[in-house]
Amino acid sequence: MQSLIDHARTFHQRLSGDRRHLDPLPDGVAPQAMFITCSDAQVIPSLITGARPGELFELRTAGNVIPPYRLGRLTAEAATIEYAVSVLGVQDLVVCGHSRCGAVQGRVRSWTLRSAPTTRWWLLQTHRWRDVPPDDEEEAARSHLVAQLDKLRRYPRVARGLSSGRLRLHGWFYEVDTGVVLNYRRDARGFTPL
Ligand SMILES: [Zn+2]
Repeated sequence: MQSLIDHARTFHQRLSGDRRHLDPLPDGVAPQAMFITCSDAQVIPSLITGARPGELFELRTAGNVIPPYRLGRLTAEAATIEYAVSVLGVQDLVVCGHSRCGAVQGRVRSWTLRSAPTTRWWLLQTHRWRDVPPDDEEEAARSHLVAQLDKLRRYPRVARGLSSGRLRLHGWFYEVDTGVVLNYRRDARGFTPL
């Protein structure tokens, strides 16, 4: 932790010669995309996309799980998605899963989450078991991502945006060992290099 503290303490000094990292976006300029991904420390959206400050609006959850939309149920995810679409005017939504995802592994092998009952419950109640094949970890992670995309499409504001053509939805799968990013092709029900 000390190295992180030291870096944060001197961060402003390293930026002092490069105002590009500090200047705010002009009024009315929305982030280029909302990026919904796992809380896993190996996934760094700005590193993967090259986004500069202000360009990505992020939502991170264990396993990049998006809960099913239910009218009247308050969730941090629903509020954050609504804010991105309705207030910021974001037009592209990226859901990015990844390989070696501990949450997906916990979903497939639930005994690994014995000490984390809240996480286990969260993963169990947010999508159906039949969406995740138990014998292929990589396939499970990709199937898990597709399940999150399907749930996101059912959020009313997202559904309206997609049907009107104002919103675009992207499903990415990041391979942490290679850095390769795959793109989900809904028409082909498969993944191809981005
Ligand atoms: Zn993960």
